[in-house]
Amino acid sequence: MNKGLLVIAGPCSAETKHQVLSTAKLIDNIGGVEWFRAGIWKPRTMPNQFEGVGSRGLKWIEEVKETTSLKVMTEVANPYHVEKVLESKLDGVWIGARTTTNPFYIQEIVESLKGVDIPVFIKNPINPDINLWIGGIERFLKSGNNKIYAIHRGFSFIDNGKYRQTPYWQIPIELKRLMPQIPIICDPSHISGKSSLVSDIAKTSVSIGFDGLMLEVHNNPDSALTDKSQQITPKELKTLLNNIRIPQNPISNLESINTLRGEIDKLDMDLIDIISKRMGISIELAQIKKVNNIPILQINRWEEMIRLRLELAGEKNINKEFIKEIFEKIHEESIRIQGQ
Ligand code: PEP
Ligand code: MN
Repeated sequence: MNKGLLVIAGPCSAETKHQVLSTAKLIDNIGGVEWFRAGIWKPRTMPNQFEGVGSRGLKWIEEVKETTSLKVMTEVANPYHVEKVLESKLDGVWIGARTTTNPFYIQEIVESLKGVDIPVFIKNPINPDINLWIGGIERFLKSGNNKIYAIHRGFSFIDNGKYRQTPYWQIPIELKRLMPQIPIICDPSHISGKSSLVSDIAKTSVSIGFDGLMLEVHNNPDSALTDKSQQITPKELKTLLNNIRIPQNPISNLESINTLRGEIDKLDMDLIDIISKRMGISIELAQIKKVNNIPILQINRWEEMIRLRLELAGEKNINKEFIKEIFEKIHEESIRIQGQ
């Protein structure tokens, strides 16, 4: 099962010794899971929320290492966390999204891990800025550690649709293009925010070609102290992993694929051509508006445009959100060039 897929599973937070050990045992029995995760220092948005059990949870995680076949990791966000994790001889660490956002924090962690060659899993920053992610990875690579992994946990937008964090797949795909040597793990739990959506995100990521999965698994999600709505049970994890199909051919040069790719290339060229013509008309319009002293933005016209396009999208069975985004972008660019 899951040949070639690196699977990390475990609760969002370590809560009690029993919860940690019983969850780990059930995960270990599934087979195919390599790493156990559990957070002991939890970055919470609001004060007065459960902020993790702290260093005493390390003992429980050490016990997982001793009593199961799983390797163990936790989140570190500062040199004190690193010191404690190293004392406890955990096998690896992950860097949370809030930490990757800040190069000062990353640098401090890099320095406190210098000379320690344990795997470091770096989550993307909360905001969709690929450079912060790459910068974090490069800081670790520069320190001589070559066991670096990236974790895609989604990005925070004003509107995340049905997800907790928007997947925005183009950023991890771009990371893969720029840093092909760095394995990318998907974290469907933090993307989806809902246990019912976890499996679909996991499947999508694996079919895209991600190298692994990090999944939040709790022996009793309803009672979880953090992220309870997105954690799945060990039994659900087993089903999820059984239902995942891993693409086996890294390069496909089948005749049929090449023909279809050719058609897509042609259509994309046509799209660019059409957009260029459309922008040309926008410039003509801008001149007329200028001569007649009419403001560039005509809100009624924009509302009507969006309405008609979404209606057509519905008829053609295309995702309306997607079409809306495309036309918002086109309109934004059109306004920009009209204003020049
Ligand atoms: C976590 O993995 O529990 C966590 C806090 O993740 P993130 O940094 O992605 O929010
Ligand atoms: Mn979590």
